[in-house]
Amino acid sequence: MTHTGNAGTGGGPAAAVEEGPAGTAVAAVATAETARSTGASPTAYDVVIVGGGAAGLSAAVALGRALRSVAVIDAGEPRNAPAEGVHNFLTRDGINPFELQRIGRAEVESYGGTMIAGTAVAARRTSAGFAVTLGDGTVVSGRRLLVATGLTDELPDVAGLQSRFGRDALHCPYCHGWEVRGTEIGILASGPRAMHQALMFRQWSARITLFLHTAPEPTDDELEQLAARGITVVRGSVAAVVVVDDALIGVRMADGSRHPLDNIVVGPRFVARSEVLESLGIHAEEHPTGAGTFVPSAPGGLTAVPGVWVAGNVADPMAQVVSSAAAGLMAGAGINADLTAADLNEAVRVYRLAGARTAS
Ligand SMILES: Cc1cc2nc3c(=O)[nH]c(=O)nc-3n(C[C@H](O)[C@H](O)[C@H](O)COP(=O)(O)OP(=O)(O)OC[C@H]3O[C@@H](n4cnc5c(N)ncnc54)[C@H](O)[C@@H]3O)c2cc1C
Repeated sequence: MTHTGNAGTGGGPAAAVEEGPAGTAVAAVATAETARSTGASPTAYDVVIVGGGAAGLSAAVALGRALRSVAVIDAGEPRNAPAEGVHNFLTRDGINPFELQRIGRAEVESYGGTMIAGTAVAARRTSAGFAVTLGDGTVVSGRRLLVATGLTDELPDVAGLQSRFGRDALHCPYCHGWEVRGTEIGILASGPRAMHQALMFRQWSARITLFLHTAPEPTDDELEQLAARGITVVRGSVAAVVVVDDALIGVRMADGSRHPLDNIVVGPRFVARSEVLESLGIHAEEHPTGAGTFVPSAPGGLTAVPGVWVAGNVADPMAQVVSSAAAGLMAGAGINADLTAADLNEAVRVYRLAGARTAS
């Protein structure tokens, strides 16, 4: 398959794709600045972004507005896809996650950015930057790489739970707390975060039950805290969530007993979607909170590998939509600064060469 890149607007360089071996599409790499200085047709993106959620799209807008050519490769499955609306994003309260993505894509394209639908499976370093391979064999190249692929929520293994996630199986009080205020809420304990979640969700409802499930028995201090906040503790493991007419109505315990609920709170393991980075030798690490994995980076998102940035949930499992967008903006600004420095170095090199020729 051959992908033809879109020309940048406002002076941004065009991007083109050449046919590679065995029919694969290969975006030839030539820096935009080299192209400008030589007058040759520019043939690669300044920046390839993998992941078009809040973080990746925000970076792409910042880079497009900086007259950089940008390609965003996106599989179209934002983490919050099952949720009806996005909350705590000032001026966008309640917007559907796909509508947010649609608007973001349009903004990227309005600044000349190119959206590419697909899944990136690997990346490799090239002489002038990075080449990203998609699942269909397409290769997209750029001088810098930003990975904003988000994370996967791994849920406890309870029958029926997965299909309720983001609807009446919840993890984040700031995403859903207002919507479930005052309802009958169960906390499914599967790790150390459960105590925190139980005491936190108590802010939104006085009707909280902590199901110890696979978590250890609370300490005496914790039991006192739970009692002080009127939180009921149920021992034993939860076998299944009970659903009627597409609504959760409770849980069934392993011993067969049932407890009525309106919503259940889970503690997913947050797993960074880091596959593309792994192929460049950048590895996800355990997050200090024990909540899952993340890809370490410097403030602004630069990883240990020069030229590669991360932003959003892949780098910070706690990031919300607005903070992921903010991280994308900062990464975009950092990448533009890095490209500006590289362009300056190249200009000085060319200038000196020209000076040497004039002098000789
Ligand atoms: C159920 C639920 C509800 C939530 N509600 C809220 C809320 O109300 N408010 C809020 O602020 N936050 C909410 N969040 C958190 C929010 O989803 C994240 O903060 C946000 O999505 C992170 O943005 P991101 O850009 O890092 O990742 P994402 O939004 O997940 O975007 C990553 C994008 O990269 C793509 N991608 C991944 N791998 C590849 C690949 N290899 N190749 C190409 N594309 C790839 C994905 O398909 C996706 O489109 C919620 C989360 C969940 C699970």
